[in-house]
Amino acid sequence: MRDTVNSLVLHGKKIGLVPTMGALHEGHLSLVRRARSENVVTVVSVFVNPIQFGPSEDFQKYPRDVEGDTKKLAKEEVDILFIPDTIAMYPENFLAHVEVEKLSEKLCGAFRPGHFRGVATIVTKLFNIVKPARAYFGQKDFQQTVIINRMVKDLDMDIDIVVCPTIRERDGLAMSSRNTYLDPGHRAASTVIYRCLKEASELVGSGIINVDHLKRVMKETILSEPAVEAVDYAGVYDPESLDEPSDIKESAVLAVAVKIGGTRLIDNMLVHVEKER
Ligand code: AMP
Repeated sequence: MRDTVNSLVLHGKKIGLVPTMGALHEGHLSLVRRARSENVVTVVSVFVNPIQFGPSEDFQKYPRDVEGDTKKLAKEEVDILFIPDTIAMYPENFLAHVEVEKLSEKLCGAFRPGHFRGVATIVTKLFNIVKPARAYFGQKDFQQTVIINRMVKDLDMDIDIVVCPTIRERDGLAMSSRNTYLDPGHRAASTVIYRCLKEASELVGSGIINVDHLKRVMKETILSEPAVEAVDYAGVYDPESLDEPSDIKESAVLAVAVKIGGTRLIDNMLVHVEKER
């Protein structure tokens, strides 16, 4: 991979990188298409990164489909598919990690200790190996985009981070490799997440900017679905600091993480407040 990349860089070819954990769906492919349209060479990595999973999380059972992924990426005419071995990425004496403080402890970080340290570390490794000019991430994982943007800025990485819109199923559920865990009943129940976000964004559109009020409505909607086993969070956050404001000033991200049928699902929606003239 390094030899290939070095010769591309030498010939002035700009590389676009799409990091994924595989089991590709239309959400991933939207990133791939965007990368293809903006770069001479597109690299897609498929790597289920063990260090971003907690000990009781789904690393072992995470869906893997290298054959299907390869076919999908060939159809998209991706130039390079990079599938490193776990042992090549994390040899026995591996010690260095990348930590984006504070931002990594909020929202999902509070429920998945070490998760974003694992994400920042693997993304740094992939950046160093692939040497992309641009890298593509989905808004679906909003906190991840905030953390990667901050890492790139703070550590002077010369890479443009492109955040692409969330791709949804027809009924609004954000596409995710983990949706395959849901049985039909839980799949139907999971639409409550999008309903909750849409309802809250409509409230913001109608002029309600008080975060306590919005949070109350979001929690009520989520809890109206009996299949929801836990609400990790459902709230309104500043899109850069991820802090909770008391009122929405200009923009905010409405974000939800819930457990349904043992599966943890996350989603979010950006909202903007019209400024008074
Ligand atoms: P993953 O394979 O889940 O690690 O995701 C790889 C990349 O695809 C990440 O940047 C995700 O944010 C992005 N992604 C996953 N699902 C979606 C989706 N439904 N819409 C847009 N991007 C997505």
